Amino acid sequence: MKRSCHIALIACVLFAAGLRANPGPGPSTYTNGDFPQVRKFDAHVHANVDDQRFIEIATRDGFELLSINVDYPDFPTLQDQARVAHALQAANPQRFHYLTTFSMKGFGSDGWTAATIRHLQQQMAHGAVGVKVWKNIGMVERDAEHRLIMLDDPRFDGVMAYLEQQHIPLVAHQAEPKNCWLPLEQMTTENDRSYFRDHPEYYMYLHPEMPSYETLMAARDRFVARHPRLIFVGAHLASLEWSVDRLAKFFDAYPNASADLAARMSQVQYQSKADRSKVRRFFIKYQDRLLYGTDLTESPPDPHERAQNPPAEGQPFEQEADQFWRSDWRYLATAEVQHVDAINADVKGLALPKSVIDKIYYRNAHRVFTRLPP
Ligand SMILES: [Zn+2]
Repeated sequence: MKRSCHIALIACVLFAAGLRANPGPGPSTYTNGDFPQVRKFDAHVHANVDDQRFIEIATRDGFELLSINVDYPDFPTLQDQARVAHALQAANPQRFHYLTTFSMKGFGSDGWTAATIRHLQQQMAHGAVGVKVWKNIGMVERDAEHRLIMLDDPRFDGVMAYLEQQHIPLVAHQAEPKNCWLPLEQMTTENDRSYFRDHPEYYMYLHPEMPSYETLMAARDRFVARHPRLIFVGAHLASLEWSVDRLAKFFDAYPNASADLAARMSQVQYQSKADRSKVRRFFIKYQDRLLYGTDLTESPPDPHERAQNPPAEGQPFEQEADQFWRSDWRYLATAEVQHVDAINADVKGLALPKSVIDKIYYRNAHRVFTRLPP
């Protein structure tokens, strides 16, 4: 009894010290001025245009880019995306990297697995550093019996075994933000509210015939459990953006999983507005499992599609990218307060220690994507 009280007291003191720790500007944290100099890696962008604008601003702001090819109907074709990726990578091999993907056409038919592996082998030989799967798996693609194809479908096993054997990471965007299944007035961010209001076809709250959020999360979790040696990255905070507690459980259950932060920072800020020290403790505890990413997209064909591929304020792309990256840096690396339009609130930065920032912003990506040039 006495012993456990004592331990509890020590824990309490340590906990309180952790809460008090607010390093501010100083040797243990970075400043806004450090932003361009620190080596950084944006692990989730879409460079769909073969020009140098994205590379130029990334170079100025100290970023390497990981551009993700994705089977998204509003993007250029997969062939065009691959062509752009090859050209940009050939011109900037240290700065520009890409993930390949595969088509679901013919899934389940004889030969799909072999043809898909052949395609992935070609792309890996071309310099891809991993593979992406998108939410069309689980939400769009149907098999010959007209059933939605889930990621844990055994017909993916052959392709996944190839990725496991070759230590090729899989980045999986499964489902949508949880807001997509909520009434508009319960959504936590303005960007989700306006996007789903304008896109009823993607707004799952209006489509009860489609799988629920939890059904899709369960399929994804069964998939990760089914492939324990697969290097798995859950895009967009593994679609658990609404709760760092839930994301912590996911990380604890699946040691082979990491997650990128792309396009979900405002959801994190929403939680840190309610309990900043909890969110800060989460980032510190899971500092090896989080990859910085934005979803910045250069020149998508339809400006209305950009609500989920931020940002779009009519400025030149490089200005948008610069502002976006600096705002995230201010939030993660410093203790400064900034106004976040998406949640209409003033949010104080997490002032994460330099060592944590270095991992989230650079080292984790280089550990996970082993084919990156050093
Ligand atoms: Zn994306």
